[in-house]
Amino acid sequence: MTAIDPAASGTGATGPYHRLRVTRVIEETADARSIVLEIPDALRERFAYRAGQFLTFRVEVGGHRLVRCYSLASAPGLESQPKVTVKRVVEGRVSNWMNDNVKAGDSLEVMQPAGVFCLRDRTTPIVLFGGGSGITPVISILKTALATGKRPVKLVYANRDEASIIFAKELEALCASHPDRLEIVHRLDVVHGFVDVARVVAEVGDRKHADFYICGPGPFMDVVEQGLESLGIARDQIFIERFSSPSDAPAPGAAVDTAGGTKVTVKLDGKETVIAMGEGETILAAARRVGLEPPFACEEAYCGCCMARVVAGQVEMRMNDGGIDQRQIDEGYVLTCQGVPKGDARIEWPD
Ligand SMILES: Cc1cc2nc3c(=O)[nH]c(=O)nc-3n(C[C@H](O)[C@H](O)[C@H](O)COP(=O)(O)OP(=O)(O)OC[C@H]3O[C@@H](n4cnc5c(N)ncnc54)[C@H](O)[C@@H]3O)c2cc1C
Repeated sequence: MTAIDPAASGTGATGPYHRLRVTRVIEETADARSIVLEIPDALRERFAYRAGQFLTFRVEVGGHRLVRCYSLASAPGLESQPKVTVKRVVEGRVSNWMNDNVKAGDSLEVMQPAGVFCLRDRTTPIVLFGGGSGITPVISILKTALATGKRPVKLVYANRDEASIIFAKELEALCASHPDRLEIVHRLDVVHGFVDVARVVAEVGDRKHADFYICGPGPFMDVVEQGLESLGIARDQIFIERFSSPSDAPAPGAAVDTAGGTKVTVKLDGKETVIAMGEGETILAAARRVGLEPPFACEEAYCGCCMARVVAGQVEMRMNDGGIDQRQIDEGYVLTCQGVPKGDARIEWPD
């Protein structure tokens, strides 16, 4: 297990990571806790965030450096310090490490906020579907929507049982303070069974013109998506955040056929490295294979964390699921988790 340096704050970490001090740990349920962080003045701008975004943490567990994302459950402008909430995953390395080890006064390596699962500036009602730990970005969106606009908000919140409801009291208080605008429906597996398509349709009711935000376990999100699809809700009204762990780094020097001869020069943290690329290999995979630690999170083209600029050569992206916009593409940026060079190239990660 890593030794946490309680003295460091704001500096001392490498690359895109910053050391942030933990000011408070809140036990939310038997298997979830919140970690509140202090942002030093010098990092305030960098750590400004939008409701629904996440932080990426780098920790060392069992001799391995692991990177994990945790959504901000706090609301920007409403809570003075950012807060993430981590729920234990069975056999999960980082979630259990965070629950067992982190305490007030520790410092953690954290990357600046990222993510596109954010509250959109619209006037239509909002319907939120949260399941288990998926409540974290959802409650941030909920609090922000209530505080900054007039949109009616409905939350459908699924949990195993009553004891596992994260933020139960906070949600109750929000209901009490916004009786005309906020409606919360709790669905408990042990009482009501799993949420199914018919339940989703019933909860949407006459709010088909709403914006829908979904975050929770995979099967829960699938059912909600199917329900919304059956109602003919347009894709641009639906926003989804998937909680997945990134793949472990390939062992440095892992066998890859580099006979194609393509070479990519990457600049990361001011240091240049020339990498012999494997056939069809992405820039992110190649950089991690040679032992570099570039920023990344979802690896599925939607978080935007791994973006870097193509300074020379051509790089083709396998896909883009909203992680990068046209303006950034026009400026020469690519998602390195999707970027495959077409011949020699030079790539620079922002400092
Ligand atoms: C954008 C984003 C936001 C997120 N926000 C939150 C949040 O707010 N709160 C939250 O709690 N989580 C959140 N997550 C999920 C979080 O990042 C982690 O994925 C989660 O905590 C599990 O990580 P872990 O290291 O504990 O588990 P891992 O060690 O990654 O294991 C995950 C699962 O895989 C299994 N597993 C592990 N190693 C192997 C192996 N070698 N072979 C087969 N199976 C294996 C484990 O048994 C476990 O069930 C978010 C994820 C994303 C992408």
